[in-house]
Amino acid sequence: MADGLAVVFQHTLAAPVSLEGRGLHSGRPVLMRVLPAEAEFGIRFRRTDLPGGPLIAAAAGNVVETVRCTVLEGEGGARVSTVEHLLSALRGLGVDNALIEVDGPEVPIADGSSALFCDLVQSAGLAAQAQPRRYQRLAKAVGVSNGQSCAVAIPADRFAVSVTLVNDHRHPALSDQFFELVVESAAYRQSVAAARTFGFLAEVEAMRARGLIQGASLENAVVLSDTEVLTPLRYPDELVRHKVLDLIGDLALLGPIHAHIIGIRTSHLLNNKLARAMADELVLV
Ligand SMILES: [Zn+2]
Repeated sequence: MADGLAVVFQHTLAAPVSLEGRGLHSGRPVLMRVLPAEAEFGIRFRRTDLPGGPLIAAAAGNVVETVRCTVLEGEGGARVSTVEHLLSALRGLGVDNALIEVDGPEVPIADGSSALFCDLVQSAGLAAQAQPRRYQRLAKAVGVSNGQSCAVAIPADRFAVSVTLVNDHRHPALSDQFFELVVESAAYRQSVAAARTFGFLAEVEAMRARGLIQGASLENAVVLSDTEVLTPLRYPDELVRHKVLDLIGDLALLGPIHAHIIGIRTSHLLNNKLARAMADELVLV
């Protein structure tokens, strides 16, 4: 606006939609409903299985765990996990306001990407609201690192994400991968939404033995052995595209932003560290 950009209005869903699936970790069935919400509501979750149906706002300050997925905590200590792919779809498609009801502790893993969440949003359609979307932009560049991983966010007049995945393990079936996306709904849907989460077979088996990822299968993740990619890929560089998807989801916790993010070896831990550093430097456009 100040720099001559056209006013973009806030959007919510035109109708409620629902999806049944399984939680990645518990493997238990979960019913998720995504409901329209008024302008300025933002994105919030409601745990319908807990007394009083506590609300959990999708905000960077509410992240309590980033080990395997992003976990949010809200009213009365209620938690919801594996939120990042759904939040990525909502940000990628330009949904500002929605109430997401889940009857358990996890968002369904779906197919390990955000494609089904995008289909859900697109089946409902979007409704424009009367209030303008309020973008925040960076007052100055910020950077974070964690071991060999690093990310910087620089001021920009749009939201763009550039990620490098480094083949540190010298996996014979992988190469270093780079992908860049200017975040806009058609490009998001086409270029990153279908990119699935990935894991190594040995790691997957160890986690299953510990009672984790009971809902994981070859249908909802790209699985790698020490020498091969065991799952047919949807994009030749599906892994780095999923890293882009995750980064968009983790930064969705800041609300609409204009910034260019450049990350190397990104992870949920690094993404959340960046979100927190950015939060201190964001100002309304
Ligand atoms: Zn992911």
